[in-house]
Amino acid sequence: MTQPTAPIIFDGHNDLLYRLYEAGGTSPAPAFLTGLPGAIDVPSAKTGGFGGGFFAVYVPSPTDLDEKLAEMSKPQYRLSLPDPVSWDAAIPVVMSQAAILFELERLGGLKICRTVADIRAAMDADIMAAIFHMEGAEAIDPDLHTLDVLYQAGLRSLGPVWSRNTIFAEGVPFCFPSTPDIGGGLTEAGVRLVNRCNELGIMLDLSHMNEAGFWDVARHSEAPLVATHSNVHAISPHSRNLTDAQLDAIRDSDGMVGLNFAVAFLRDDGKMQADVPIAQMLRHLDYLLEKLGEDRVGLGSDYDGAMVPQGLTRISDLPDLRAAMDQHGYGPALVAKLCHENWLRVLDKTWGA
Ligand SMILES: [Zn+2]
Repeated sequence: MTQPTAPIIFDGHNDLLYRLYEAGGTSPAPAFLTGLPGAIDVPSAKTGGFGGGFFAVYVPSPTDLDEKLAEMSKPQYRLSLPDPVSWDAAIPVVMSQAAILFELERLGGLKICRTVADIRAAMDADIMAAIFHMEGAEAIDPDLHTLDVLYQAGLRSLGPVWSRNTIFAEGVPFCFPSTPDIGGGLTEAGVRLVNRCNELGIMLDLSHMNEAGFWDVARHSEAPLVATHSNVHAISPHSRNLTDAQLDAIRDSDGMVGLNFAVAFLRDDGKMQADVPIAQMLRHLDYLLEKLGEDRVGLGSDYDGAMVPQGLTRISDLPDLRAAMDQHGYGPALVAKLCHENWLRVLDKTWGA
């Protein structure tokens, strides 16, 4: 039986730009059209019915990945936060990854979208829709001048922190089992950042904030609360996941959560191991739907940035997820909401007309 490639999937988080940056910058970009070794490229998008999503620009920390993987395979772990990255160090990396995004558009592989109408037009034209997102605000100065410039360049979504401290807030460290309430919240500059993002219509992503930061944004932001790639703390008690109180606040603000495919945040035991059945993802979706309602849940795969379930390693595998949702009894209207409609709804509310 052929698996369904519709409704099209619009996704809350991927790290393709970082992946290409590590692979050599703009030179590997043409292979986006013909086939890349990672999770996302144009041929796989056609096979999987992937319509795009949030493309993150991300400044890496010098970490030993093997060491991190080994640590996160233990029954309990408490990774420390990497050192902060300075503005001078972050800017060239952000410029390089943004240039890769523009190159992918120039080559015809995707369309950078600044409005919901742009996203709908890209979907209708069967071209990948990309939101320019930045995961961590190291490249933004305290006067927010870089924010204004990046907005003009197309930035429409921002995480004030990755799991690392910035001048705006403290990031959440990777800990299991752990409450997300492990650190301080927004700084004064962080409050200014939130206000300016509200004014400009830049969506704020809460996924890597600790709980104090989350509540500070909830207090200061006028926009719906959004976690683009996070899961349920009641199922997987990871510091990166959302507690019931946080989910209630997201519901009350009419925001949403994108389901993260990263195995450590899906598994009950928090381990970085890929043998995770789709049924475990459905458990998180069921819980999110119960807490948030049908209009406030979507997908946030973390493709090209995380270890994902072994049956869903590339976007060409997404038909299996649709089929599983269908067999689980979600029904066509709900599957369409989960696949893309809820993202468009919340972006419409956040960005305005
Ligand atoms: Zn992330």
